[in-house]
Amino acid sequence: MPQWFSKLSKSSIPPPPIPSQRPPQQQVFNSGTQPAPNYRPVYLPHPSAVPDPYAHWREAETKAGAGSEARGGVADYTWQIPRLSLRIDDLSNPAIDIFLTNIKPQEAMRNAVISVLECLYTIQSQPRNVASVTLILRDFDGVAHTFGTPANDADKEIHFSTRHIKNNESRAQSEILGVLVHEMVHCFQYNAKGTCPGGLIEGIADFVRLRSSLAPPHWKRSPPSDSDRWDAGYERTAFFLDWIERVVGPGTIQAINEGMRRSKYDNGQVWRDVTGHDVERSISSFDTRFMTTSREEERT
Ligand SMILES: [Zn+2]
Repeated sequence: MPQWFSKLSKSSIPPPPIPSQRPPQQQVFNSGTQPAPNYRPVYLPHPSAVPDPYAHWREAETKAGAGSEARGGVADYTWQIPRLSLRIDDLSNPAIDIFLTNIKPQEAMRNAVISVLECLYTIQSQPRNVASVTLILRDFDGVAHTFGTPANDADKEIHFSTRHIKNNESRAQSEILGVLVHEMVHCFQYNAKGTCPGGLIEGIADFVRLRSSLAPPHWKRSPPSDSDRWDAGYERTAFFLDWIERVVGPGTIQAINEGMRRSKYDNGQVWRDVTGHDVERSISSFDTRFMTTSREEERT
């Protein structure tokens, strides 16, 4: 017998320890009723936990007092947070350092989703067809844009310009968060089957940004001029919507958005349905009452 073989003889290999206690609920293989003298029970390994494919849906914020009328399932009590991702095209871009120094990506995206849902929806009415949102940081002209609509695309992409981040370095955090909220609105808002005027689409996005206290310093709540249109878009429309929300009541813009879930815009029918007034005729009232509101705000 070669020497190396004898070193591996049975006597030199310590027997495996005998488990002192059989773990519960484990299957034991035993081929006979009379175990061999050196019988060792063989235990199946513990199966590792199966990843929950819906874990990201279960991550949620419970809104106090909401969702009490359950239709069944945990989602009725929570905000549904889509799967959130970040893609960075070029790590050598100096804007990426600015972004990562100022922003916690997961927290920022999650908070943006919740800001949108809280402003435009209830636990029960929230859209359930947005499966994922990917934030893509890349170099292009402009600020940001979003691909995908709730009607036809469950996977959204927010493209955020690294140039815009670099150009706003001095107030990077609030600008990035503000743009993120604006774009996140586009991921979730309704558009009257594609018939909603672009100015109102953009105005609702900036209304949510305004209500999230992320308005940039250049937004001025000034009285509208003769040439101003309520649906000019962006902050002009955002301030108009904010005024409507105050005059008609909380939840008005939420109802306008909800009204555009299934119906076409139909020359502003949704305004008549929600407020009882024609939006165009509200403008003259807006002009005078806006002034009053602004002065009142200045005094407080
Ligand atoms: Zn926009």
